[in-house]
Amino acid sequence: MEIKQSILPDLPERLSGLGELAANLWWSWHPACRMLFKMLDRQIWKESSHNPVKMLKELSSEALKAAARNPQYLRNYDEVLAQFRQYMDATEGYFSEHVFDPNHYPIAYFSAEYGLHHSLPFYAGGLGFLSGDYIKECSDLRVPLVAVGFMYPQGYVHQHIREDGWQENIDETLDRDAASIFRVLNETGDQLVVKVPWIEPPIHVAVWRMAIGRIPLYLLDTDIEINDPWNRRISQRLYISDIEQRLRQEIVLGIGGSHVLAGLGIKHSLLHLNEGHAAFALLERIRERVQGGMKYEEAVQQVRKTSVFTTHTPIPAGHDVFPFEMMEKYFHSSWPTFGLSRDTFFQLGINPKEPNAGFNMTAFALRLSGYRNGVSKRHGEVARRMWQPLWPEVPEQNVPIDYVTNGVHVPTWIEPKLELLFNRYLGPTWLADHDNEALWKRIDAIPDEEVWKTHYWLKIKLIDAIRERIRQRWARNHVGLSVVRAGGTLLDHSVLTLGFARRFATYKRADLIFYDLGRFKKILNDRWRPIQIIFAGKAHPADDPGKRILQRIFNAARDPELGGRIAFVEDYEEQVAQYLVHGVDVWLNNPLPPMEASGTSGMKAALNGVPHLSIMDGWWVEGFHGKNGWAFGQEEVSDSRDQADAEAIYQILEKEIIPLYYTVSDDGIPHGWVKVMKESIKSNGPRFSARRMVKEYIANFYANALKEA
Ligand SMILES: *Cc1c(COP(=O)(O)O)cnc(C)c1O
Repeated sequence: MEIKQSILPDLPERLSGLGELAANLWWSWHPACRMLFKMLDRQIWKESSHNPVKMLKELSSEALKAAARNPQYLRNYDEVLAQFRQYMDATEGYFSEHVFDPNHYPIAYFSAEYGLHHSLPFYAGGLGFLSGDYIKECSDLRVPLVAVGFMYPQGYVHQHIREDGWQENIDETLDRDAASIFRVLNETGDQLVVKVPWIEPPIHVAVWRMAIGRIPLYLLDTDIEINDPWNRRISQRLYISDIEQRLRQEIVLGIGGSHVLAGLGIKHSLLHLNEGHAAFALLERIRERVQGGMKYEEAVQQVRKTSVFTTHTPIPAGHDVFPFEMMEKYFHSSWPTFGLSRDTFFQLGINPKEPNAGFNMTAFALRLSGYRNGVSKRHGEVARRMWQPLWPEVPEQNVPIDYVTNGVHVPTWIEPKLELLFNRYLGPTWLADHDNEALWKRIDAIPDEEVWKTHYWLKIKLIDAIRERIRQRWARNHVGLSVVRAGGTLLDHSVLTLGFARRFATYKRADLIFYDLGRFKKILNDRWRPIQIIFAGKAHPADDPGKRILQRIFNAARDPELGGRIAFVEDYEEQVAQYLVHGVDVWLNNPLPPMEASGTSGMKAALNGVPHLSIMDGWWVEGFHGKNGWAFGQEEVSDSRDQADAEAIYQILEKEIIPLYYTVSDDGIPHGWVKVMKESIKSNGPRFSARRMVKEYIANFYANALKEA
């Protein structure tokens, strides 16, 4: 199938490889490649949201011609292009060395969201970054994988905070022809359109393709002429609240996605479902086998042996349940093709805890996938308890749900200046071998001064960027001065800085630290050893309680009594996350246990020498070892969990974090603090990497499942 790339402008012959580089997200985790684009024109680079395709379209031909005459530029260009081609052409890699069998088809990976880069609005939060980081790592390890997802033109909403602190949502539509996404063309040169079966009136999806290193990601787009308006809106944005449209979304992803792969002629040996949204893909796998003449029971067995399902949340609302009547409307012509009755079909999606609630996508995925996992050790336990009723004869600890703890893609999240520092002390190949824990021991050999200087520089960079954003907003919209203050104007880089950034779901308790306001004010406003906190995050557009928490924080940020020590940064997305996890001093995390399945933003921070101050939940249960950050909330609390946890945070701040941070030696360096930073980097960096994670999926699931494929 041909991929249309002609939307890229004519490039000078000498620089024609820039088009090749722009078309592959490889640039997103290779700073030297991004630098090639940035150097062409800093202003356009910034205005394009660091999107090389958009940039190349807007750049003048003079700028390109000048670069083609600049020897230094050409040297860098040749080097990066050679590196890229070598990366793409290499045939050997971890996967081929460990699980090699040329007869296998690729692994099909389905996810409703992908967090890849801030110019591509195909994510809402943690789940998206997990799948984005996952496929980047699969590319690095040469895992043969084909990914499927949605092309959401309006992605997640942009956030605008009104002067009274209430979140408003701004829609922005992606310019499909100015992003690293490309139309898949059919034989006649038109964009490939696939019809989703079983639905009337029919839904059609147009197919896009992205290249994430060596991994192709196919994106489904229902916003095309041939669909009626209701159908066109299916892929408009993530997680539509309307339950029927949500069901249709999941039918398109699971069933439509399977048909797209078939239409492209791509067979797959294994199916990996990243969360239950795409679980209908399991039905298509069974159907293919039944239609090929296999008995239903046998088909189910075979699909089970070759399907992996990863569940991502203990929150009930995170598991889709569809009313039976609605399921009937969409599937009544479907179950007879398996030889099933209405009842036997519905049985597949029943959660025994609430059998009348409807068709539960997680229960369905758990029943039909033979490899099942949660995303941290703790979450594995929680998931086994939660789903034990599906295996009534099995004691809880033996419920067949395993775990693989999440990790982050290190080349994406390591700050480039730190990468260079590590090159000098860990050796120039550390990044290529970054899950080797022994290498990271050499972090201790880096002089404290160098670690501290680099961190301090990043902190200044963060605070400057925040101030610049709010300065521009003030200059543009004449917002009131209290809003300017809330936006972070009074942030001070010499002050101990905490970061709190994530979705504003209520269980994350973003406002917990305001629990005892009097005590908190004293900590914030200490004359000699103050602290400041930078908040960022969006509430789901339908989540009013989440928006109220956000409003409370925004109003605190405007309150003179809090002394300008609280800032709220609007529109949390990948780039804001990069600045924050690189530049604050401490990463704060205090969800209500056991709701945090894993969490990954704390891993990104820890990797960059920003220690974690976190409740014992999610990944921190495995990450904390006493000297690499701070932990609280292990104990059972009888009355008020909020009170106990807030108290614990104040105590740790007052007794440990603040004194340690402000104890500076004559050389101007807080050596005790740098020690914790180093511990944080070396203990968490290799272990909470996407590399360790993907290797575990291979060893625990893929390798075994492929034997059955
Ligand atoms: C990493 C990341 C997340 C996920 O963070 P959690 O720790 O799971 O809350 C969400 N949004 C952005 C922009 C991120 O970079």
